[in-house]
Amino acid sequence: MKVHGLIEDLGDVPFSVEPSMLRRKSRDYFWYSQALAEDLAGKQADVIVTPRDEADVIRVAALCARWRVPLTPRGGGTGNYGQAVPLHGGVVLDLSEMTAIADVRPGALRCAPGAKMHLIDAELRPGGQELRLHPSTKRTATIGGFVAGGSGGVGSVTYGGLREPGNILAARVVTLEETPRVIELRGDAAQKINRAYGTTGIVTALEMPLAPVWDWVDIALVFDTFAEACAAGLAVALADGVVKKLVTPISWPIPRYFGPLAALAPEGKSLLIAMVARASMETFLSLVRGGEIVHEADFDESPAATPIYEYTWNHTTLQVLKSDRNVSYQQCLFPHDRLLESVAEMDALFDGEVWHHLEFIRFAGRVTASALPVVRFTTRARLFEIVSIYEKHGVFVANPHVFTLEDGSRHKRAEADQLGFKAEVDPLGLLNPGKMRTYEPMRA
Ligand SMILES: Cc1cc2nc3c(=O)[nH]c(=O)nc-3n(C[C@H](O)[C@H](O)[C@H](O)COP(=O)(O)OP(=O)(O)OC[C@H]3O[C@@H](n4cnc5c(N)ncnc54)[C@H](O)[C@@H]3O)c2cc1C
Repeated sequence: MKVHGLIEDLGDVPFSVEPSMLRRKSRDYFWYSQALAEDLAGKQADVIVTPRDEADVIRVAALCARWRVPLTPRGGGTGNYGQAVPLHGGVVLDLSEMTAIADVRPGALRCAPGAKMHLIDAELRPGGQELRLHPSTKRTATIGGFVAGGSGGVGSVTYGGLREPGNILAARVVTLEETPRVIELRGDAAQKINRAYGTTGIVTALEMPLAPVWDWVDIALVFDTFAEACAAGLAVALADGVVKKLVTPISWPIPRYFGPLAALAPEGKSLLIAMVARASMETFLSLVRGGEIVHEADFDESPAATPIYEYTWNHTTLQVLKSDRNVSYQQCLFPHDRLLESVAEMDALFDGEVWHHLEFIRFAGRVTASALPVVRFTTRARLFEIVSIYEKHGVFVANPHVFTLEDGSRHKRAEADQLGFKAEVDPLGLLNPGKMRTYEPMRA
């Protein structure tokens, strides 16, 4: 078998074929979608290879090309759409051991792809800097996985998502060819690997922009209605003078599932969660006057603490899933020019079947809200019907119940030309095959 030949040629590059390891490292969080849980069941790698450095990556890429074996890169495995699930077996390349932070300068950082984002920030903080944005999985996800699989998160209310020019400064990628090349993509060219699910090259280094670190305060307020929490959140998001990292209105009954925070939200009330710089607190409070503060704490990411961002973005779904496995979620972007009207319209449509929470973000220079509403699961057909209901009402959807990047990530910019770049870096079509469905390999 081809994989056996490849394993024999690996030399001293660490690998595992241990069955529990193969199972564990072939999964991500696709099971948040009952449709994907069905579609991706049993998909598994033949070998997990764990490179120590770029030289190991080049060696494995060359072997995969020579033996015609698929290769799926993997960071922390926290992706949501089976992004890191090997549809056709082969090698899962676990980059989580490549963690070096090579270079920190004012405003920018260069690091290896497997560095965990909370560890990057811990290292940067004494020097007064931090990552501009991170997913709510900051404590488990890698920077390479975020850039290759994610979209935005905490910090996007100020800086927008990864798609915004300047939010990825450069990426170094290894091609999948018999003689792999190493390519440095700078500026807009780096978008070729953003949210491409590892289909357009193996990222071995990234240059990311940094922000000044602030004395962040985690805060939660209750409001009588979701509409009031959204209006207060929008006022904060629009206030450019208020230094903030997170603004998240959450409708009842979601707060009921919030473990230690659950007691803070009385029956029927909605929450507004935020991360605000202490220096901006006075102005922030003047903008959210209708709410009652129920939680206020110094930002704390230590292992025993739960930072407030772990109740937001797709962690909201996770908090509900902890006690109710019969829910799923949806991913959408509300129109900026009738934001609160559109949210109210969608919130009124589903009679308890869909629970909304918003993430205020900047998108192409405008303030709007993305959202990952929690959906009560009934049938697969209904999950897809809900997607089309949002679309019919003018809400942009990135369908989280499909595994190809064309169907799932419609927030991507077209001009980055990921399809054309793939032909250059993966002529055999061996990088995470099946995820970029429009790609046809150039060579057999
Ligand atoms: C509870 C929860 C909350 C989440 N919240 C957010 C959020 O706020 N924002 C957000 O954007 N996402 C979110 N996600 C999705 C996911 O956690 C993030 O996108 C995360 O950054 C992925 O990083 P990872 O290291 O786990 O990547 P993985 O899941 O390991 O990989 C993601 C994709 O990147 C590819 N990849 C990984 N490393 C490389 C590399 N070195 N070179 C090339 N390709 C590579 C993989 O093949 C895969 O296709 C959430 C997921 C969960 C389960």
